[in-house]
Amino acid sequence: MSSLEHARALVAEAGRVATFTGAGLSAESGIATFRDPTTGYWARYDPAELASPVGFAADPELVIDWYNHRRRTLAAAEPNAAHRSLAECADLIHVTQNVDDLLERAGARRVLHLHGSIGLDRCDRACGYEERIDLAAPPGLRPCPFCGAPIRPAVVWFGETLQEAVWNASVEAISRADLLLVIGTSGVVYPAAGLIDHARSTGAAVVVVNAEPIRSPADVVLIGSAVEFVPEILAGRRTGGPGGSPGSDVGRLD
Ligand code: NAD
Repeated sequence: MSSLEHARALVAEAGRVATFTGAGLSAESGIATFRDPTTGYWARYDPAELASPVGFAADPELVIDWYNHRRRTLAAAEPNAAHRSLAECADLIHVTQNVDDLLERAGARRVLHLHGSIGLDRCDRACGYEERIDLAAPPGLRPCPFCGAPIRPAVVWFGETLQEAVWNASVEAISRADLLLVIGTSGVVYPAAGLIDHARSTGAAVVVVNAEPIRSPADVVLIGSAVEFVPEILAGRRTGGPGGSPGSDVGRLD
């Protein structure tokens, strides 16, 4: 049996399936990853300057400009075949490190954004003000209408803690999963990457699809493109596997 056949059989037979995704899932939609040595954002910018509270305090205009550039790129992008096939399996629950909305635009309804959402702004002082923004025409640096502190993207920056409710829901979803499908993540950003080890510790099977090997152990590893492998892996599930029908209760969190 090939690795692809093995992965497809594991996914088709599993009851509850959760996914854990990273920037590689959206790479073929034209959204740069963080760590690619040539196209990745960190090859061109310093993360400490652009995605940290210290960087925002030092040069808020630069940080907002960079996020607005990413927002306009995202507005022009489309979900790819991997997003679409994941969305077609309505019973899957998605834990993503991605701040983009491509899974939702593909039709996925159960998406937990561990690192926040680039489509939202919030008050930097966390007074409670939040605003959904137009990705195609994002506003520039401005003060919070309630408290006057600067408005910033509602994403989790380096050095910040994850939102407790989203983290807890992600741990619960993965604790209940029989299989974790890991797609397009280098698995080096913690605590998020610890969810892969957590899945194994609770007895879930782990299937990895990534352009390069990652450190986390897995039952099956497929090295290559998400667009190429993900629809293939999910084929058995979309056509009536245990969790295949959109109305199925399998995998529900409630
Ligand atoms: P990362 O850049 O560290 O790793 C991406 C991984 O995807 C790499 O291992 C790479 O080999 C793999 N990859 C690249 N293209 C692929 C493809 N077509 N198919 C399969 N795999 C592919 O990204 P990460 O692990 O998600 O790092 C986490 C951080 O990156 C998060 O904080 C997240 O917020 C941020 N990020 C998000 C986006 C987005 O929302 N789309 C984009 C860039 C970075």
